[in-house]
Amino acid sequence: MTQNFKPSIDINVLYRIRNGPLKDYQSDIDEFQKLIADNRIKYNEMFDVDMKTQKRLTNDTVKEICKLGKMQVQLLKDDPKKMLAYLYALFAQIEFSAIAKIVIHFQLFGGTILEVGTDYHHQKYFNDINNFNIVGGFAMTEMGHGSNVRQIETTSTYDLTTKEFVINSPSLSSTKFWIGNVSMFGTHVVLFTKLIFQGQDKGVHVIIVPLRDPVTMEVYKGIQLGDCGHKVGWNGIDNAWIRFTNYRVPRENLLNRFATITEDGQYLTNISSPNKLFQITISQLVFGRLLYIFGPTIFLAIGLKTAIRYAFSRRQFGEKGKPEELIIDYPTHNRVLLPMLATNMVFEFSRNWIIDNLQESSRSDEKREEYHSIVSGVKAMVCEFTIQSVSKLRVFCGGNGVSSYNYFGAMRNDLDVFQTAEGDGAVLYQQLSKFLLSEYKKWYKKQGMTGYIMKEVQTFLTTSNPIHTHYRSMPYLLSNEFHHHAFLFRFEKTRSIVIDHLNQCKGKGLSFLQSWNASLIQVVDLAKTYTHLFILENAQRTIQKVTDPITRHVLNDIVRLYALYNIEQDVGFYRNWNYLSSGKALAISEAVGELCNTLKPYALSILDSHKFHEDSLNIPLAKKDLDYVKHMADRVGIPYSSL
Ligand SMILES: Cc1cc2nc3c(=O)[nH]c(=O)nc-3n(C[C@H](O)[C@H](O)[C@H](O)COP(=O)(O)OP(=O)(O)OC[C@H]3O[C@@H](n4cnc5c(N)ncnc54)[C@H](O)[C@@H]3O)c2cc1C
Repeated sequence: MTQNFKPSIDINVLYRIRNGPLKDYQSDIDEFQKLIADNRIKYNEMFDVDMKTQKRLTNDTVKEICKLGKMQVQLLKDDPKKMLAYLYALFAQIEFSAIAKIVIHFQLFGGTILEVGTDYHHQKYFNDINNFNIVGGFAMTEMGHGSNVRQIETTSTYDLTTKEFVINSPSLSSTKFWIGNVSMFGTHVVLFTKLIFQGQDKGVHVIIVPLRDPVTMEVYKGIQLGDCGHKVGWNGIDNAWIRFTNYRVPRENLLNRFATITEDGQYLTNISSPNKLFQITISQLVFGRLLYIFGPTIFLAIGLKTAIRYAFSRRQFGEKGKPEELIIDYPTHNRVLLPMLATNMVFEFSRNWIIDNLQESSRSDEKREEYHSIVSGVKAMVCEFTIQSVSKLRVFCGGNGVSSYNYFGAMRNDLDVFQTAEGDGAVLYQQLSKFLLSEYKKWYKKQGMTGYIMKEVQTFLTTSNPIHTHYRSMPYLLSNEFHHHAFLFRFEKTRSIVIDHLNQCKGKGLSFLQSWNASLIQVVDLAKTYTHLFILENAQRTIQKVTDPITRHVLNDIVRLYALYNIEQDVGFYRNWNYLSSGKALAISEAVGELCNTLKPYALSILDSHKFHEDSLNIPLAKKDLDYVKHMADRVGIPYSSL
């Protein structure tokens, strides 16, 4: 069936759309990739390497990267897109643990000093961070608390006489745990700790804590630390547990942009409460969450390239006397691979929006809150989708998917860590839902009962209108209007369901927290439906700006496929709430199949519109010439020159 699958779209145009925010940084990406190659910094394959050696190799790679002088903490504020361009350049060129180590050192450690510290800290630490003379970690999580950071137990008690903080780990559960970059190489951490001032708990603050002598690497007295052991992924990172016993650091080590202790011993802050202070501190670190969207979309693009190129070259079964079928032609294959490709591309458009709005989001508290909430929803959705997808991709490559040389195992393990990093989906979706409900409350206050009733009537009319629920002409099913209407309906309906549920719980005498927890399934659904709506709206807006007609045509089909596949996956919801008749639901499934067939011939050129240094990975199934037999033979050493 699939005979002509030569590229027919301009991959450079598509590349610029997929990487919109970084398009002005192409020369930086190219230059950095060339520098890395010229300096022989390589991807370390860690297949048979012991844990300690992995960590050493990863640390050496990061040291070499830092020597190139491009990575600078200040970029996070002055030119965050340039920082992202450099990180983009690193993907597939060095092992993921090394990228994670760079992110922990520059963004989590350096970025916290940048955002929560003041000029004194910037002057004192930035040079050493940029040169990797000191190695930084981010010490927030404890054995007892991860998602709920406000309840951490580590204490830093201010000693007025010596002007020092005295740091203690008062219980086993207060042991800092999972702290990256620390068990073998870390010299400093930014420590999240309760600040005790004159007997009063002032809430969570951040203090720079030196751990080791950077020259001898000896751990300072008053600190105990060790490795967290073998992990399913990120084994190049030296994650540590840390305990403190009356360990002292000077007053100046408090990152004091939002709260300070003066030389004459006064605690000062303009922030109204410890809770607010915590929120403001954490919201400065949103760049990290963005990276947990950036990384998975790139991983999945690499996985898709591998599985789709393989599907266009692997043949199994066929009619007698004829070539066997390409596996891409099996609907069980293309009906999953193409929606996955489409979904990853619309995720990329949302990622691009998030990058483009990063600086703008810090202009006001309202903007920051909205941005933070959206990023939380998108991060949760992207991480969940990519890990599930990579597992499917490995199966789509059959036994060859099991070979470590095709990287599904490493990708799956590394992606797995992303899912809970900075919070699991269940926690992040709640942050978004809280924001959505408080926005709705504001709207409700403005519109009053009349506005509310109008909205409910609108929803009722939609579901009770037989034309709407049955209408299934193909142009209508493919239209932006239908997709948007369906996504908006799902979001608004879910919002009513959540509000009803919360009210019912309240009516039964439950407290707010009890009601909220009893409604969690609906609350999480609310965030998911909004995230899908956001992703769709953003994708539709992105395409409106595309001028090249063929690219626009293909991208339109990509977004249609994402939308219809998504509706198809959620058909139970739409049927339960009478939004779709069974005939219309079946027509949607047919449309999904047709879109997969339409897009199949473009799939290979879409894959080419990414510019990773995939040769560093040397993935046999992902080679452009589609000769997987030869490349697998080369990888495992089968002699064939005489054949
Ligand atoms: C490899 C690795 C590296 C790491 N590096 C660092 C680091 O450098 N620095 C650092 O500080 N931390 C680090 N961490 C810790 C990481 O940030 C935490 O694991 C993460 O924040 C989740 O916290 P937790 O593990 O305590 O999970 P928990 O909060 O205990 O969550 C466990 C489960 O309960 C669910 N849950 C929790 N609360 C709720 C709720 N209210 N409603 C519904 N469900 C809920 C979660 O969704 C999750 O499924 C690292 C972790 C790993 C694995």
